Amino acid sequence: MRSFRDLRCSFFNKLFTFMSLLMFISCEEETLPEAVLSIQNVRVVNMDDFSVSEPSRVVVDGDSIILIVAADEELQYKVSKTWDANGGYLIPGLWDMHAHPDDPELWRLNPDRSSRDLLMPLFVLEGVTGIRDMGGSLEEVTHWRNSYKQDSLLCPKIVAAGPLLDGPDPMWDGSVGIKSADEVPKVVDSIMEAGADFLKVYSKLPADIFHALSQYARENDIPFVGHVPYEITPTEAALAGMKSQEYLLEILKQVTGPLPDSLKIEMEKITDPVSSWVMVNNYRLDHINTSLLDSVIGIFATEKIWHCPTLSMWYKNAWYEEELEKDKALIPELPMYLQRYWTPDENDHLKHRDREDFIEVKKELYEFYAFLVKRMKQSGVKLLAGTDTGANPLCFPGVGVHNELAALVKAGLTPGEALRTATLNPAIFLEIDDHYGRVSKGYKADLVILVNNPLEDILNTRKIQAVVRDGKLIGAGEIDKRKAEIFMKQGVN
Ligand SMILES: [Zn+2]
Repeated sequence: MRSFRDLRCSFFNKLFTFMSLLMFISCEEETLPEAVLSIQNVRVVNMDDFSVSEPSRVVVDGDSIILIVAADEELQYKVSKTWDANGGYLIPGLWDMHAHPDDPELWRLNPDRSSRDLLMPLFVLEGVTGIRDMGGSLEEVTHWRNSYKQDSLLCPKIVAAGPLLDGPDPMWDGSVGIKSADEVPKVVDSIMEAGADFLKVYSKLPADIFHALSQYARENDIPFVGHVPYEITPTEAALAGMKSQEYLLEILKQVTGPLPDSLKIEMEKITDPVSSWVMVNNYRLDHINTSLLDSVIGIFATEKIWHCPTLSMWYKNAWYEEELEKDKALIPELPMYLQRYWTPDENDHLKHRDREDFIEVKKELYEFYAFLVKRMKQSGVKLLAGTDTGANPLCFPGVGVHNELAALVKAGLTPGEALRTATLNPAIFLEIDDHYGRVSKGYKADLVILVNNPLEDILNTRKIQAVVRDGKLIGAGEIDKRKAEIFMKQGVN
């Protein structure tokens, strides 16, 4: 994928590593080479086979791991910082593969830049060292990328879609409404020139424009992902080369087929859109064709289409009241505009909470999504951890990834498989797995040190001892201090 080139290991990095090695070999014993960080007494979690090493010593220089040896082996480096992990567990930095730190749905609240900036450190302080921005302003993304480079704000790495590509009458502010297939090359070129890494298609994109776009993207080697449009089936989108599908959208519709005439006649009598939504979804949930479902999932597997199910988002939506109670303590960490928007009075995702039939269907849909995830895993469909953090209520920046991992385990993934959806799988998806997504010599030092074994209990990803981003370690004390500072700032933004 040409567009993630910024994150790729350059020839010069490799040359530098080779030169360092030569210097090391030719060094006199008393003039030991220097390294920035040694993590002592840490067990390395292997994301390929889910094995755990004996206590080891992991040495970092610059932004990369340069050595992993047994904990008791004598160190041939002079290190500037040592961290005793005390038998803790080392995993790669986490990725949130569906985030909206600048969600266009929130633009109507006019959040200023300093408020939006407050979201960035919340990812990193929770161990999330990379995000896939699934729609927002590229200007904002450019600002965050520059802040990252200048070290003026604690940011994760960002790969970004830029504006959503929707039909002539787009759903949200800031989307590009493509009016005809002829417009596709111009629109795509301008978005890629503005700094997007990939394209995100949206629900109202007409079928002919979708196909023109997928063809243009394929010809130009540009990855495209997103919502399966209403007029397209998930398998059509898969066969057109859509690299990842989000939210499990349109699958239920495909595996239940067209609505029967009798139901359409019934629906014509209903004027209330909520009741008709309830009726359609109840029908579909009762008429799932399981052999069709298996063949649809089979196509995802053979076409190597990734799915980002955002299960935790669906769960928070269906069980909002109960989840709000559990998440209360986290709300004050958010900027005021988000605190305000995550309430039923303001939020588009929290409408009709007084309708029991509506909420009941949402819960049943969640059970279907969880079932789908399990079937996908059994069929070898690759999954990505995503949160939809942004306008959607209770999908917290950072914490949301831990919620998603827990939801994936509840749906039937092992803790290791869940952890892989936020570490090695994102790296493979982004084609940067030669230096991201594993804790290994030569890999980037984006790391999380955990107190307890995440393979025994996925909730252990939340007990963070330290986060390492680009070789720089932020210990638990510093994490707490920075979170407290953010908490203090939120009240005024
Ligand atoms: Zn989204």
